[in-house]
Amino acid sequence: MANPREGELQYPLGDALPAPGTSLDVAPGVRWLRMRLPFALDHINLWLLRDELDGRAGWSIVDCGVADDATKAAWEQVFATQLDGLPVLRVICTHMHPDHIGLAHWLTERWQCRLWISATDWNAARIASRSTTGLGGDSAARFFASHGLVDPDSIDKVRRRSNYYGSLVPEVPTAFHRLMDGQLVRIGAEDAKLDWRCIAGYGHAPEHMALYCEKIGVLISGDMVLPRISTNVSVIDIEPEGDPLTLYLDSLQRYRALPAGTLVLPSHGKPFRGLPQRLAQLADHHAARFAEVLAACAEAPQCAADLLPLLFKRQLDLHQTTFAMGEAIAHLHALWQGGRLRRRRGDDGVWRFRAG
Ligand SMILES: [Zn+2]
Repeated sequence: MANPREGELQYPLGDALPAPGTSLDVAPGVRWLRMRLPFALDHINLWLLRDELDGRAGWSIVDCGVADDATKAAWEQVFATQLDGLPVLRVICTHMHPDHIGLAHWLTERWQCRLWISATDWNAARIASRSTTGLGGDSAARFFASHGLVDPDSIDKVRRRSNYYGSLVPEVPTAFHRLMDGQLVRIGAEDAKLDWRCIAGYGHAPEHMALYCEKIGVLISGDMVLPRISTNVSVIDIEPEGDPLTLYLDSLQRYRALPAGTLVLPSHGKPFRGLPQRLAQLADHHAARFAEVLAACAEAPQCAADLLPLLFKRQLDLHQTTFAMGEAIAHLHALWQGGRLRRRRGDDGVWRFRAG
């Protein structure tokens, strides 16, 4: 959802954006790339970190873009013009979503280098890439129906939407280097090594890794903290009783310890300062949604589909509706698991939640 208080944030680079295939310097040894995405969210930011590994000078890449020809062509242009003639030494993925890991296999093959990622997300990506029903199919259709999405046309489209993940992530590297919470990853040219600390985050992806470098005051936030939109946090059919929103909000606490002046490099939008303000905005945003859901559920039992007009005050297409359903269920589940709502399954098979 769009951030109405974006004006509280500062964009130190102004309106500058790197054109496809080019880069902008955003911090010492850190270059910003922007790749096109074939979604409503039409771009992703990727980062090049000047590096040296096993005695070889080169670059580490953070996140990859989706596996399509346009993104590969943009990468080829980057290789030819933005790497100062040096190789790629490793590919770091913040998490397993297709826009982040899509080309990891192609990049690691192309440069004969290793993928660095959390074990949880590597496994999840391997499974999702091979699944024939990633984010669709009968199971997803039944799950949405059990939360009140009963329109036959929508349910049919969800059922037929198969291989969504695999089409964007056709292959995942068969080996990886494991990133864990708190781990320090040393990245930098020989005379300028920097420690980047992994910060695990939950609720958006299975085990998202942000990277924080204290010395230069930079946080690569991935999708955990974005300036313009709130991070998608959804309950999905493979974990039907999940409470990802509580996990997400708890994970955000970890960023509160970082200095107020930290330069945040998000996966979508522009590099910004104002991390404490953004964290407060996100807490307020979800608190307001919780209050709306609680008030509605105090009046009458509500299913997730009932809440869509309340939580999303605009027309939604099918893709947006499935995201919105996942988010509505996430708000309901946080309140349910937190003991503020009770749920009951109706004779129609739909879960409804009421206060108490
Ligand atoms: Zn993501």
